[in-house]
Amino acid sequence: MSRRGELDAIVVGGGAIGAALALGLARDGFDVALVEARAPKPWRAGDDVDLRVVALAADARALFEDLGVWSGIAGARIGPYRRMRVWDALAPGELAFDAAENGEAALGWIIENALIQHALWTAIGAEPNVRLLCPAEVAGVESEDDGVTATLADGTRLRARVLVAADGAESPLRKALGIDCDNRDYLQRAIVANVATTRPHEDTAWQRFLPGGPLAFLPLADGRSSIVWSLPNEEAARVLALDDAAFRTELGAAFDFRLGEIASSTPRAAFPLRLRLAKRYVAGRSVLAGDAAHVVHPLAGQGMNLGFRDVACLRRVLREAGERGGDIGAAHVLRRYERERRSENAMAARGLDAIWHVFNSSNPAVSTARGFGLATVDKTRFAKQFFASVAAGRM
Ligand SMILES: Cc1cc2nc3c(=O)[nH]c(=O)nc-3n(C[C@H](O)[C@H](O)[C@H](O)COP(=O)(O)OP(=O)(O)OC[C@H]3O[C@@H](n4cnc5c(N)ncnc54)[C@H](O)[C@@H]3O)c2cc1C
Repeated sequence: MSRRGELDAIVVGGGAIGAALALGLARDGFDVALVEARAPKPWRAGDDVDLRVVALAADARALFEDLGVWSGIAGARIGPYRRMRVWDALAPGELAFDAAENGEAALGWIIENALIQHALWTAIGAEPNVRLLCPAEVAGVESEDDGVTATLADGTRLRARVLVAADGAESPLRKALGIDCDNRDYLQRAIVANVATTRPHEDTAWQRFLPGGPLAFLPLADGRSSIVWSLPNEEAARVLALDDAAFRTELGAAFDFRLGEIASSTPRAAFPLRLRLAKRYVAGRSVLAGDAAHVVHPLAGQGMNLGFRDVACLRRVLREAGERGGDIGAAHVLRRYERERRSENAMAARGLDAIWHVFNSSNPAVSTARGFGLATVDKTRFAKQFFASVAAGRM
């Protein structure tokens, strides 16, 4: 589809979102360059489960199936979660979701970030329509009437019809394109670790809302759980500094010993939590996708799911423009993507932000109301189905 030997698309950033997009566009017949600054962390079956995992929903699976990488991922190491339990430390009431209620086998799957990237990069390696440049960084972008030129740090120039910035939450390209963001720092960090518990996880994703932030236990394929424990910055620093025995005791208590004692734990890592929403997704012939466009609180495991929906939407919009023989980087084409995705991403981010505010309040009146709310939602079929969609990432 490319003209005069030019590329159709340049994708900057080979994380899960950029890699899925580059592969998808190539499968759609476009000539693509994928530029990534750092080679991904290798994933090997014999290695311990990576600390970074994501809960992915049915439409992420559908995208992986379409890209031909799902069977490899599913056959490697994934933890399906069939149920979800959400409760509150400050009030009674519990939300319970079961995939079987909707006639499904699973609400979603817990998958290592490194495995997703490994599967996508392996497929890209065999895809002739993708020119992979790694390690390579984009130093500058110039949009012209009929194309966009990216200049790499080593002076290489790439020209295409459209450029996609999928270069993550800090997105140097978003800044270079002059796109501002709404920003909020939750003043929290999420501590992650893999832990063994004395009771089985029952293929269930568990989440307890505590005054300092939510604590989730996500079921891993090997019987352990991946924890995501959001805490105010100072408290997170203290918990990170605990020795293993003290950490396990505090973690078990924070989780109300719902899965018994914490029998073992891996080293911990922590990530700052922010809300970040790009005010626009398009600048000239460049568009944003994934965390470059939106960063959300991980309390409902939505960030990467939203990014994969960006991928599906952008592929559809570019494919349709290409099939009509039009310019895939034309402003009206890119704005169609922006219109569809920016409102959905903003709605999801604001919804998660509202949930965070309700559960982060230590005001007793608010906590009584929220306990009543959880109990009511659990008994109301319609409301529960709505929350189940949120839980399964279909919000
Ligand atoms: C604790 C935690 C738990 C989470 N849990 C979930 C979950 O359960 N479910 C879910 O859906 N999401 C979850 N998320 C969110 C999810 O991790 C992110 O949304 C997702 O990883 C973003 O992927 P990305 O490809 O957009 O960005 P990234 O993974 O950040 O990739 C960006 C890539 O761009 C490259 N890059 C940057 N600058 C340049 C440049 N100038 N030139 C070339 N390359 C460049 C980087 O090297 C990187 O590889 C969680 C996040 C956190 C912090």
